[in-house]
Amino acid sequence: MKTGKKQQHIRLATMLLCAVLLFSAAIMPIACAQGETPGELLTVGVPVDRCPIFYQDAATGAIMGIGVELMRFAAAEAGYAASFRPITDGTLKSALDNPAYDVILPFGSAIPSAAGKPTLVSDNLMQTPFTFVTEGSRELPDINALHVGMLRSLGGAVETLHQLYPDMQIMSYETMADSVKALRAGEVNALLHNSFVWSYVLQKPAYEDLVVQPSTVFSMDFRAGTPDTERGREIIERLNGGIAAINDTRRQAIILDYTSKKLYKYDFSDYLHEFGLVYVLAALLLAAVIVIALQQIKAVRREEEQKRQLMLDYDPLTGALSMTGFRKRVEELLHAHPDSAYCLSYNNIRGFKFINDSLGRSAGDDLLRMWAKKTMETLTEEEALGRITADHFVVLRHISGEEQVREDEKRVFEPVQNFFINQGKENRVQICSGIYVLTPKDYRIIDVDHMLDLARVAEKRVRESRSGDYAFYNPDQWEKGKRISNIINYLPKALQTGDIQVFYQPQVNYETGVITGAEALCRWDHTKLGWLRPDEFISTLEDAGLIYDLDCYVWETVCRDLQRWNEQGSRRFVSVNVSRGDIREDRDMPGHFYNLVQKHGLTPDQLRIEITETAYVESPELLIGTTEKLRAYGFHVEMDDFGSGYSSLHMLKEVPVDRIKLDLHFLTESGDPKKSRTIVSCMIQMMQLLGLRLIAEGVETAEQADFLKSKGCVEMQGYYFYKPLPVREFERIMEEQKGK
Ligand code: C2E
Ligand code: CA
Ligand code: CA
Repeated sequence: MKTGKKQQHIRLATMLLCAVLLFSAAIMPIACAQGETPGELLTVGVPVDRCPIFYQDAATGAIMGIGVELMRFAAAEAGYAASFRPITDGTLKSALDNPAYDVILPFGSAIPSAAGKPTLVSDNLMQTPFTFVTEGSRELPDINALHVGMLRSLGGAVETLHQLYPDMQIMSYETMADSVKALRAGEVNALLHNSFVWSYVLQKPAYEDLVVQPSTVFSMDFRAGTPDTERGREIIERLNGGIAAINDTRRQAIILDYTSKKLYKYDFSDYLHEFGLVYVLAALLLAAVIVIALQQIKAVRREEEQKRQLMLDYDPLTGALSMTGFRKRVEELLHAHPDSAYCLSYNNIRGFKFINDSLGRSAGDDLLRMWAKKTMETLTEEEALGRITADHFVVLRHISGEEQVREDEKRVFEPVQNFFINQGKENRVQICSGIYVLTPKDYRIIDVDHMLDLARVAEKRVRESRSGDYAFYNPDQWEKGKRISNIINYLPKALQTGDIQVFYQPQVNYETGVITGAEALCRWDHTKLGWLRPDEFISTLEDAGLIYDLDCYVWETVCRDLQRWNEQGSRRFVSVNVSRGDIREDRDMPGHFYNLVQKHGLTPDQLRIEITETAYVESPELLIGTTEKLRAYGFHVEMDDFGSGYSSLHMLKEVPVDRIKLDLHFLTESGDPKKSRTIVSCMIQMMQLLGLRLIAEGVETAEQADFLKSKGCVEMQGYYFYKPLPVREFERIMEEQKGK
């Protein structure tokens, strides 16, 4: 069947080919008759660089032009079949010596050949007018004084011009482009060529500034030439007969035909000149299209990559994260929130295989989907849920208060436990949950798999013991985490309700017994945790970056108290604590203090600002700068906890403080009491030598007080004198002292 069709095609093609050949054979003689006039062959040599007089058609290679048409006509009239050949002999003059040509075109008059042989010319085929072309339409100087540019190939015309205008300077150029360049450079005043050629050349867009001068300089005859031989004479004689047959109408028709044709073909530079901007825009457009296309491809690839990643990161059944996704998300969250207390739970349904087997796989799937959905409803952006395999879910959660745990139980665990019961079935679902509470180390070295392993240990314990629903891997840590989150979460409320109070611990001059000042120390009566000492919550708030909120509150309270006492006629002095977290490059803490004292009508010296020694060690430049600014405003700055750090002696030299607070607690807490006393006495001595004021804190006994006094340190603060007191009690004691 297939081969039959093929043969049919071949037969059809053969028939077509035969038809074409037959048709070609039939019309061939007609075509030949039209292309060539029968008769004796006359070989005519012509230059081919003078469009529209002589040129070679780019497509066919045929020699054409005004001169060709006129000569072909004259020759035919004379009984010749003219065949045109391009002259390759350099000049027309030397072509006259080439026996390959019967006649040469064009000559103005008979001139000897290059070899000096005499020649003959025919009658005139047409008059060719020669005109000047200038750059723009400018006036030309006297024709005799002109510098004129011409093509070297116009040898005959040059000779004629010399005879007509002997003083004219004529420069010859190889190409039209060279001659135009010379004209533009001012080398010549005008270019000279015959008008027919100008009609062609000036079609070039780059020559649009060239102008044809209206008057003809001279006209040249257009004749055929040949060596003066017998054959030459015969040809010329016959040709003259033919030339005589060309009437003027025919001649003008041929000239008009060629001079009105758009023969000039644009090359690339012409297009660029003519449509430069369009090309540039088109190129830009093309480039833009390419760029957009490339970006499109990139975007599609990126989207595909994201989709692929999503598929890897998410569990298609429940929408929870996959193990890979969960691991990534936990790492991100712990990096972003190193101060949040987190726990990680590993959850598993007891006997899930039994559920699948007895109720069907799709019932199992429904349960898992519901569990994931309920869990996700309770999670914030900063928490995560993952499904590792089958019924093993892992959750990263903030450690929150007890209520939230109970609420989650209601919202997640109860619906899961009752999932089948609510459907009228008897199966109660039991979840085993192991919880691992993250420790500070887990935020430094984030190893999600290790943490999950530990949670899984606790989960396993629940599963094996068959008692309870959950267990902690590290219960102490859980309690700690809960306290931390209670402190952080309750701070804003405590600042509003007055749960945080400022206590004052008086400072006394042991020599005179007079209370010279007090240190402001905060206490927090926490709604859930009871009275808290700053030792616990200050460091938590520092870690969470919230200490500035608390300190601003304390400073404001102190200033309000000082203002009230001022108004009551008792000017007092209070030391306030500044945490190292309060001092930052981007925060004008000295300015803040200044505004505070201005607002409350205090003098800056009423506020003494305590900055701990270790802060100076950690960032000396920032701290020294801050201290200098504070002192420039008139505040007193004290170096707190002196003796607790490492570089006490070096610090003393560098830091411009008003008073040093020597902490007895640090200096006497361990070791030999005798040695401790020696250290304290040496320190006091050194401060005195350096001319620094001094106060000792943590004074608990009379012996300590006496010893300090014997060494010359009389300003003291400690339980031996007073504990930190609520403001009313402090006021009472101050009033008492006033009365004495
Ligand atoms: P600190 O600035 O060194 O404050 C002195 C601490 O020593 C206070 O503890 C005070 O109650 C305690 N103290 C006073 N006399 C004695 C004594 O004779 N023996 C003993 N063992 N202790 C004594 P407190 O009030 O618990 O404050 C602890 C730390 O918390 C303070 O140490 C201070 O660094 C910080 N702090 C307290 N209130 C604030 C505050 O408002 N802002 C900031 N940033 N830190 C505060
Ligand atoms: Ca202090
Ligand atoms: Ca201290």
